[in-house]
Amino acid sequence: MDANPSLGQPRVLISRTALLHNARLLRRLLPEGTRLCAMVKADAYGHGAAIVADTLTNFCSEHLEAPAADCLAVVTLDEALALPSVSVPIMVLRPVENIFLGRQRPALEEALRNDFVLTVATPQAVRDLARIALAANRRASVQIMLDTGVAREGTPLDLLPQLLAAIESFPSLKLFGLCTHFVSSEEPDNRLTLDQLRRFNAATESVAQLHPKLLRHTANSGAIFFAPASHLDMVRPGISLYGIDPTCRPNCDRALRPVMKWTAPILLTRTIAKGSTVGYNQTWTANRDTRIGLVPVGYGDGYLRAFSNRAKMLIHGQLAPVIGRISMDYATLDLTDIPQAAVGDEAVILDNDPLSPVSAYALAQWGNTIPYEIFTRIGSRMPRIAIDVAESPSLPHPQRKSA
Ligand SMILES: *Cc1c(COP(=O)(O)O)cnc(C)c1O
Repeated sequence: MDANPSLGQPRVLISRTALLHNARLLRRLLPEGTRLCAMVKADAYGHGAAIVADTLTNFCSEHLEAPAADCLAVVTLDEALALPSVSVPIMVLRPVENIFLGRQRPALEEALRNDFVLTVATPQAVRDLARIALAANRRASVQIMLDTGVAREGTPLDLLPQLLAAIESFPSLKLFGLCTHFVSSEEPDNRLTLDQLRRFNAATESVAQLHPKLLRHTANSGAIFFAPASHLDMVRPGISLYGIDPTCRPNCDRALRPVMKWTAPILLTRTIAKGSTVGYNQTWTANRDTRIGLVPVGYGDGYLRAFSNRAKMLIHGQLAPVIGRISMDYATLDLTDIPQAAVGDEAVILDNDPLSPVSAYALAQWGNTIPYEIFTRIGSRMPRIAIDVAESPSLPHPQRKSA
């Protein structure tokens, strides 16, 4: 085998230009004054939270001297604490859980020093948080996630008055927002979305009148496109910011631009004789003399084992089939029909063209899943590298308030 020691590395390239394009495209759908909160949970859907947060908050939006996103949201406190310092509010969506307050306390104090918006779901959590805020001499911004059908982390609607009363009884707390999450917003004609919205509005309208600065937010990507009535004060796009259509099928009308391109160099090539097998358990047998290529990416990097003998990669614009079992660290390609493919050449694993045969949509089909999962599985061995930086001048860099 031919191994080239001076090879490039596998890389996940993140286009800042595409990210800013998608943010603008989404913004154009919103009424004047509706804010955009970028979902950067799960390492920004595998795209690298540091790059994405930096791009969306430190680069200008169009000609405005304002960041592309007005807010960032993550799920856990640790995710929020790991973000770079930004000039916009950061929301932590997983409710503060009173049972874990002992363990969470230092992280919560750090969160309060950073003015993170914390989500509460029980009167006990409200009380405990108020006490910690008072002791830390901070005023905590809190919001309530209301359950209108997902039956996940939200609070049942009938508990809202009790929770609001609890929040209002503590001067160390201030109410930042009320929100809910949709069940099937990516289905354009599903009436459940508007039904959930109706129940959310009915429960929250009087509260909104009492608190003019309160932010009510409900819409994820699907609802931004398919349920404009849900835009309210702020929207929370995730997958669409990363350039993937919420229907999980490419859609040319919506002109989203995929942000990620994943590549790796061909590490070795060799020719095996007709009748030889490739990989664990001999799941692929050569029916001709075959030139194979080794790519240093496996299921340990999020290149799913389910892709074995199904997926393809692009080399010099030509499709090379993935043959044999994908192992933890390697995938093997059939290069027989791409004779010019050489060691060191770039294999495109996941392409940033929505119509590419190796788009995130295609990988999701091969893996029997959705692009969301394809992205979030990509492992920490793959460096995320920002590209297309020459977009617009950076806004001044804010400083994090505490160490
Ligand atoms: C993940 C998430 C979103 C974003 O959803 P997309 O479908 O990726 O736009 C919005 N809101 C909540 C509560 C979420 O958990």
